[in-house]
Amino acid sequence: MSSYQERYTASVMNTFGPPALVLTRGEGAHVWDADGNEYVDLLGGIAVNALGHGHPALVEAVTTQLQTLGHVSNFFTSEPQVELAERLLELVGVGAGGGKVFFTNSGTEANEAAFKMTRRTGRTHVVAAETSFHGRTMGALALTSKEAYRAPFEPLPGDVTFVPYGDADALAAAVTDQTAAILLEPLQGEAGVNVAPEGYLAAARAIADQHGALLWLDEVQSGMGRTGQWFAFQGNSVVEEGAQRPSRNQVRPDIVTVAKGLGGGFPIGACIGIGAAGDLLQPGNHGTTFGGNPVACAAALAVIRTIEEENLLEHVTVLGQKIRDGLAADPRVTEVRGEGLLIGLDLVSESSADVLLAARRAGFIVNNATPKRIRLAPPLILSEDDANAFLAAWPGILDEAGV
Ligand SMILES: *Cc1c(COP(=O)(O)O)cnc(C)c1O
Repeated sequence: MSSYQERYTASVMNTFGPPALVLTRGEGAHVWDADGNEYVDLLGGIAVNALGHGHPALVEAVTTQLQTLGHVSNFFTSEPQVELAERLLELVGVGAGGGKVFFTNSGTEANEAAFKMTRRTGRTHVVAAETSFHGRTMGALALTSKEAYRAPFEPLPGDVTFVPYGDADALAAAVTDQTAAILLEPLQGEAGVNVAPEGYLAAARAIADQHGALLWLDEVQSGMGRTGQWFAFQGNSVVEEGAQRPSRNQVRPDIVTVAKGLGGGFPIGACIGIGAAGDLLQPGNHGTTFGGNPVACAAALAVIRTIEEENLLEHVTVLGQKIRDGLAADPRVTEVRGEGLLIGLDLVSESSADVLLAARRAGFIVNNATPKRIRLAPPLILSEDDANAFLAAWPGILDEAGV
């Protein structure tokens, strides 16, 4: 154990358990630890480092903005903030004037803003999904079903009903004319990547419409190009005859929350209200000191621009499919799920912790989402060479882990 790990344990609150590594440097999809070991980062800071580490476009945008204007309070605005709000509205498909954005510093805060928006409907009931994850602050936690996360902090804000994810009939049975919102992740990342079954999001839209409820999609993990579309609600993307097209699971949400990949490693989140939902919060209803800070907004603009310029949506679609196919080829993998570069797989045995360690020894950082499940959320710029190296190492990693 390095001295930094000991010092961490003595000085940083023990909310995450002991840190596995002390990382000192990153470049592209690679990181180095304090002992000089190099890793291919297939977790990307949990779907955050969209452009990998040290991308020149991000470095330049943050540096220039910090030199120009680093922070203003929300008594004022700045050019990057307005530009980013307009870009996000374009990317969700409604354009400037088709909705409104509230900026935050994290995913959980984006969900807090959205939770407060639901209260402004005059209703309080929210229907959310089992095996969901929406964050750790008290409001977001109230919407997260996992008992181990919730129990120590009860009572949480109430009037939340949980239904099995993917079951449209259960959703229909739970939503009433008193329901303010249905909250779903198009793909459940924290659970080890559960993909909404075909037709589920459309059913949720229809059920919401029938009862006058909002459809709120948490795309904190699945958004910003991770699935090969800007947002997962725009449809699972497929490449056919060289052309990329969205297919199933397209839907029109009222609220979309994003964070993780949005700033490419710079902390920023956003709560996007589409149509009338954008006007639910009014002066005095909500606020933030840092949210919408010009540096964070400049970072996000650079991420968006780079995804476009480097044609990363198509890259993510093609490479994601290749990785999923390669992983599924080993008989010790019973199922591979996901879209683009948000990938989850099930092992035949409860050996994900051993697979994580064996992968690390082989030079790859992965995540063990559950005892049987491995999750990958690499940088969107992951190269084909790095993907091939991982697929080539994969059977040996499973051998080494004794799967
Ligand atoms: C990570 C995550 C959050 C919480 O985001 P933080 O930035 O950690 O607060 C919320 N929802 C989903 C779907 C997430 O994956």
